[in-house]
Amino acid sequence: MTAACLFCKIVSGEIKGEIVFRDDQATAFRDINPVAPTHILIVPNQHIESVTALESKEEQLIGHLVAIAGQLAQSEGIAEGGYRLITNTGPDAGQTIFHIHMHLLGGQEMKYPMG
Ligand code: AMP
Ligand code: ZN
Repeated sequence: MTAACLFCKIVSGEIKGEIVFRDDQATAFRDINPVAPTHILIVPNQHIESVTALESKEEQLIGHLVAIAGQLAQSEGIAEGGYRLITNTGPDAGQTIFHIHMHLLGGQEMKYPMG
């Protein structure tokens, strides 16, 4: 837990989030400013700043976040239509919260090309 981190506070329950999944490694909650009908953030319970800060021992954890995204896509009813997983990293990508997270976006046709 990092004291100033918003997502650490949502994981710990200090700040309320609309939590849709939780286990001993990860938490998923609805984005406060959704950009698609389904917009969920999936985060590790431990504080990791970004993809750039990842250590090799955390590879399993990141795989777990992807697996949770797949399960949530099923339970949200967007698996068949398709969905997008996004992890913004650093200023050029628009990362605003420096606790690694995966956006699960779906429920509408996504704009393409990206970038
Ligand atoms: P990023 O820009 O990739 O770092 O994504 C951060 C996301 O966190 C944005 O989509 C915000 O809307 C979302 N967000 C910010 N504050 C909260 C909050 N209190 N609860 C849920 N989502 C939040
Ligand atoms: Zn954090």
